[in-house]
Amino acid sequence: MSVALPVRSVDEEENLIGTCGCGSPWRLALNSVEPVSGKWHDIVGVRCPICGRSAGFTFDVTTFFQPRPGIWGRDMAAPAPAACRRMSAIECSHPGRSRQ
Ligand SMILES: [Zn+2]
Repeated sequence: MSVALPVRSVDEEENLIGTCGCGSPWRLALNSVEPVSGKWHDIVGVRCPICGRSAGFTFDVTTFFQPRPGIWGRDMAAPAPAACRRMSAIECSHPGRSRQ
């Protein structure tokens, strides 16, 4: 069980995730928000498409996360706007969404 890093925005999460040590942007491999002990944990898994390294992050997003229907884990085909915004910064694979 990893320690959740408290963050105040999606931008802060992106800053902490950064890029792979080889210089390549991460590719989002996993993202879900889960209730843990009365807090919201944002679980992000990334993988480098160049060197294959992977990394996982757990953020405490309780201060700004707004639960809403449809955001849950398996609903990746239609991510909520906040989730998709994060993906666009790393790599958005949301069908129909053009990359910047
Ligand atoms: Zn890499």
